[in-house]
Amino acid sequence: MGYLTMTIRKAQILTWLENAAALLEQNKAYLTELDSAIGDADHGTNIARGFQAVVTKLPTVADKDIGGILKMVAMTLMSTVGGASGLLYGNFFMKTAALTNGKQELSTAELLQLLEEGTAGIVQRGRAELGDKTMIDAWTPAVQALKLALSEGQPMPAAMQACVTAAEQGMQATIPMQARKGRASYLGERSIGHQDPGATSTVLLLRALYSALT
Ligand code: ADP
Ligand code: MG
Repeated sequence: MGYLTMTIRKAQILTWLENAAALLEQNKAYLTELDSAIGDADHGTNIARGFQAVVTKLPTVADKDIGGILKMVAMTLMSTVGGASGLLYGNFFMKTAALTNGKQELSTAELLQLLEEGTAGIVQRGRAELGDKTMIDAWTPAVQALKLALSEGQPMPAAMQACVTAAEQGMQATIPMQARKGRASYLGERSIGHQDPGATSTVLLLRALYSALT
């Protein structure tokens, strides 16, 4: 049972955010290249800039609880990322902030709830469904896989690895899809054959979380 009730400390949430900033910076050109095929070629620069701003502000929230930290993340992403993804990721973190208000650590079940509610926040704002070729095609299977793994009694971090793998599969599954939401939907059938940039940055966020837990 020890692993099942693994505690995620506030320091690991900070590490998640730092890992995310580093991974997004490393993949900035790649994300922008994906967005140049079916969007306006700004996703990599926007999201890397946003998470860099988050990391710069981390010292100012060092004494806050997890909710306070995640609220800063939400507001920073909303004000610095721009585009659809700034609003959507901002909403993700705003939901997670409400959920973790007053908490210094999270149980595994609370981490699942965080990802679940965050994803619901993206859906609430963007109204995307599975198969619309958006970041939701990575988030939804990722959350489902984590839920399943935990319900089967898989320990952390293995359960989180299942979550990342499902997100990667979801990301790859966006390639043959035709976009029905966001800028890429303007391309109609010409959006087919390209990997969705937002689903790709979602995978990076989850990989960053995985490495913060191990
Ligand atoms: P913009 O399209 O405004 O330039 P970005 O390039 O930063 O924004 O982000 C594009 C990504 O946002 C897409 O690849 C897609 O994953 C995601 N996205 C766009 N619209 C939606 C939506 N309605 N719901 C969920 N995700 C969306
Ligand atoms: Mg764009």
